[in-house]
Amino acid sequence: MNDRERAFAFFGTSVLLRATGEALRLPTVAELAEVFGDAGLEQSRVPVAIRAAHGPSVAFSFDEDHPVPDGFRVDGLRVAWHTLGEADFRAAGTARQKVEWYRTHRFCSRCGAATAVDAAHESMTCPACGQHHFPRVAPAVIVLVQRGPEALLGRSPRFLPGVYSTLAGFVEPGESLEECVHREVEEEVGVRIANLRYFGSQPHPFPNSLMVGFVADWLDGEIRIDPREIEDARWFTPEALPELPHPMSIARALIEDFRARVAG
Ligand SMILES: [Zn+2]
Repeated sequence: MNDRERAFAFFGTSVLLRATGEALRLPTVAELAEVFGDAGLEQSRVPVAIRAAHGPSVAFSFDEDHPVPDGFRVDGLRVAWHTLGEADFRAAGTARQKVEWYRTHRFCSRCGAATAVDAAHESMTCPACGQHHFPRVAPAVIVLVQRGPEALLGRSPRFLPGVYSTLAGFVEPGESLEECVHREVEEEVGVRIANLRYFGSQPHPFPNSLMVGFVADWLDGEIRIDPREIEDARWFTPEALPELPHPMSIARALIEDFRARVAG
């Protein structure tokens, strides 16, 4: 470990941040060694590679109820999203997924024996039966449905008050991304779509998704929401958009792209 390397230390699923005055940032390994001691730190280290934009980083895992040292604070990753900036947030998301995978694969799900990190395969490997357990990524689709100058946005009861976003859902076994978009839109709001176009993708570490974004045109049907999934959905013009999701999200990128195409 290099002392100046940045540290992704998780207390449960929350990330540890260095607090200096109002400013929050990722701590260095040296700063953690000062408060936890070299031995305590080594014990909490998660032996998986974390490649971040600023170079190699080290991950640590502490219990959720571990006392937070002075000069530090723990934040949920969704909160840290608002303070870290894109590069550090992306790296923190990667670290969190690997730490969670490590924490939850200590035993083989096939035979029950204790596993060990296999650096060559980047897997948790079972010495008894040879099974490799890789970190899982769950693909999900997200789509902006457009009808002329209007975009279809919905809100989940989990959203902050007033926020509407593009429709999203997880891919099911046996389903293509395109089939998933058609199914999700029809299930959630009861309309059919056509002319599906790929937009882009974004890792979404809550807890382990990859969001695959699309734009589609409305084909037919009126909005009829599935109240188990969303509480409201409407057509919005660029001039009368509601509260929008965070600027760093692919949902926001889809909506800004719509705004630019229609208003521009
Ligand atoms: Zn096994």
